[in-house]
Amino acid sequence: MGKDKRRRTKAVRAGIGTDPAYGSVMPPLYLSSTFQIDGLDKRGSYEYSRTRNPTRDELANALADLEGGIGCAVTASGMAALTLILHLLGPDDLLLAPYDMYGRSYWLLRALAEKKHFRLEFIDCYDDGALDAAFAQGPKMVLIESPSNPVMRIADIATIAKRAKECGALTVVDNTFLSPILQNPFKLGADIVFHSTTKFINGHSDVVGGAVIVKDDEHLLADLHLWNNSLGTIGAPFDAYMTLRGLRTLEVRVHRGEENARAIAEFLDEHDKAGRVYYPGLPGDEGHAIAKKQQEGFGAMLSFELQGDIDAFLANLTMFSLAQSLGGTESLINHPASMTHVAMGAEARAKAGVSDNLLRLSVGIEHIDDLLADLETALKAA
Ligand SMILES: *Cc1c(COP(=O)(O)O)cnc(C)c1O
Repeated sequence: MGKDKRRRTKAVRAGIGTDPAYGSVMPPLYLSSTFQIDGLDKRGSYEYSRTRNPTRDELANALADLEGGIGCAVTASGMAALTLILHLLGPDDLLLAPYDMYGRSYWLLRALAEKKHFRLEFIDCYDDGALDAAFAQGPKMVLIESPSNPVMRIADIATIAKRAKECGALTVVDNTFLSPILQNPFKLGADIVFHSTTKFINGHSDVVGGAVIVKDDEHLLADLHLWNNSLGTIGAPFDAYMTLRGLRTLEVRVHRGEENARAIAEFLDEHDKAGRVYYPGLPGDEGHAIAKKQQEGFGAMLSFELQGDIDAFLANLTMFSLAQSLGGTESLINHPASMTHVAMGAEARAKAGVSDNLLRLSVGIEHIDDLLADLETALKAA
């Protein structure tokens, strides 16, 4: 697929009409774990599905094309994607990561650092002084999650990537919250992008998956494929097939979700039962200026502090399912302190601004009138 195509077109047409066997319009699903070899001196592209699989490759090509990278390792989950990336580091290498990242990522980094897989420093990505001190130590890799989960803080990716480059460190961006439709970290100087494809990319809350995309370094890509094959963190062919199916509507889903999220953020911002609203699309939001500069939209995620009874509020909602995860066509609500961010521990949560009355919304593509009416009713009851 040509690099000059619009992203929506790339997603819709990925792998269409490439079936060599029967000319099926949609790329077929190859479940076979193994592939027959014509002769010891006649090896094809595929031999064993852990190493390579045509359906997984189809998804990998589509994601690399959408992010504007040279290739992609498709993994079993977002956490498997992060696991792969962390295997680029050795015991002496220093990793910088935000202290307010996704709870399970935070847990994994801390646990592996305790086992001496690498050296780790959690940093405040929004504080220039803290960044100066961190970069002075010569990191090997810098992780960025922007917007952050769940308080939607915005890190200046271009500035951090530039500083990383100056000291020879790799910049890695978790682009899960915005998807390649709304943010292109490679254009901002990142070297590696990863996704929990479980979220917006698949978009239908029926697959757990992940992906690591490399901008331009062939050696890095080969290394990631080698680790994916050796660790066995690969994504299943059926999951890849489903994810490619979901990916085709990514752009229309993301834009409708964003439109709804913006209306909800404005509604909550005016409501007296809602305290602080975290949505970078609001002009008063701390991250608004940078988000406007580095993103192509503000996305479908927002959080707010409820000033009222949480149990009563949740019990009266009918359009927001109380559940983990995000990025599906259906709206979800999450209580980070007891759900997604419980693994962080109370102290780290307090530091990251995850208060006990914080609620996170993943806004779906339902009709906005129904979503607003539902929130109004539940807020009244709270
Ligand atoms: C969900 C999520 C992950 C982890 O992905 P899984 O697919 O659940 O393993 C990582 N980062 C962010 C920002 C997420 O939302």
